[in-house]
Amino acid sequence: MSNTITTGKVVGFSYHLKNSKGETLDQSEEPLMYLHGEGNIIPGLEKELEGLKDGDSKKVEVSPEDGYGTYDETLIFQVPKAELPPEAELEIGMEFQTDTADGKMVLYLQEIREADVVLNGNHPLAGETLHFDVTIKTVREATKEELQHGHVHGPGGHHHH
Ligand SMILES: [Zn+2]
Repeated sequence: MSNTITTGKVVGFSYHLKNSKGETLDQSEEPLMYLHGEGNIIPGLEKELEGLKDGDSKKVEVSPEDGYGTYDETLIFQVPKAELPPEAELEIGMEFQTDTADGKMVLYLQEIREADVVLNGNHPLAGETLHFDVTIKTVREATKEELQHGHVHGPGGHHHH
């Protein structure tokens, strides 16, 4: 079936994301476009969308392990303000990128103190069980170029060249 989600299909879906308390974390009315089978969305969601068709709706529950990771206390760092880029205007929630042995890591500014700041390397949704309400809007074959790049091109595609 050409409109069934399998590896190599470009999928557009809208979603409503809640946490376990039923609070809305995020939602999208404009379809989010991704290339299925390339790990472009969190694994727990990609797995559950496999085999759905254009127009299908599904509730998907994703554990932290298959979502944004479990919460890791060792990823919280106290850093002197003097070590931050001098031009940075400090604001709670802002992101810093740092190079580690395992590659790039994004740290979120969690707390501003007098002489230092607290940076948190956990994704803001780490430790959360995610509850998605997903509706599939479009399913199409990926172009040859999209397959080579491993991501979607055109409207709704998110990537940097
Ligand atoms: Zn590309």
